[in-house]
Amino acid sequence: CGIVGYIGTQAASQILLEGLQKLEYRGYDSAGMATILEGDIQCVRAKGKLLNLQEKLAGQENPAQVGIGHTRWATHGKPEEYNAHPHTDTARRIAVVQNGIIENYRELRAELKAKGHEFRSDTDTEVIPHLIAEYCKQLKAGTLAVEMPTSSLFFEAARRAVNDLEGAFALAIISADFPDELIAVRQQAPLVLGFGQGEFFCASDTPALVTHTRVVLPMENGELARLTPMGIEVYGFEGDRLRKHPQTLNWNP
Ligand code: GLU
Repeated sequence: CGIVGYIGTQAASQILLEGLQKLEYRGYDSAGMATILEGDIQCVRAKGKLLNLQEKLAGQENPAQVGIGHTRWATHGKPEEYNAHPHTDTARRIAVVQNGIIENYRELRAELKAKGHEFRSDTDTEVIPHLIAEYCKQLKAGTLAVEMPTSSLFFEAARRAVNDLEGAFALAIISADFPDELIAVRQQAPLVLGFGQGEFFCASDTPALVTHTRVVLPMENGELARLTPMGIEVYGFEGDRLRKHPQTLNWNP
């Protein structure tokens, strides 16, 4: 029910936690966070209040400069820790948080299971990291032509995956194999991008951003954003690069 994402030069985990706190009003039954630490995805999740996640993270030295966070309002799968976001692929190289509902998840899950992907939750969301992993594998093997040679394989895999999804979703995605990228997606669920100095954000709503930046860009349906420590590029689902103009908020908290 709430998404935050960060890529930049500061420790991500504190920024993500604060962002999730600002989104608490949206309601939730569990929370979680994934960062890229020493080449691996570190995923921490907790049932119930944000405080439970905070307690799990307390005392952990985490200098990771990229990460995603989530507060969940369960639609598919009980509000338990194993269903809490972020969700990862079989090899735990890709982590995804989602708001919304993937309507065709049953078909996708069956196809992915047949291809050997191992599922660990009852959610609709979990098909997404597996689908991206599948496309990464196929793109690496050269069995799919890359239509956008300038973008990364990870971005291209995510772009193909979202084209297979039906329903309403806002996503934030990271990969341990592409630690300088964070991908944000909007289709019928809100997501706002934030522009800082050498740091970039995404969140379900602006209150999670305004302590860091007033320069924002609400995403539109059918858009994918590629956040790196250098900036943000926005694309359509077909891979077409879009020219966007961020706005500066007048905000008196
Ligand atoms: N449908 C997803 C789930 O149940 C996401 C729910 C949400 O928007 O928090 O896990």
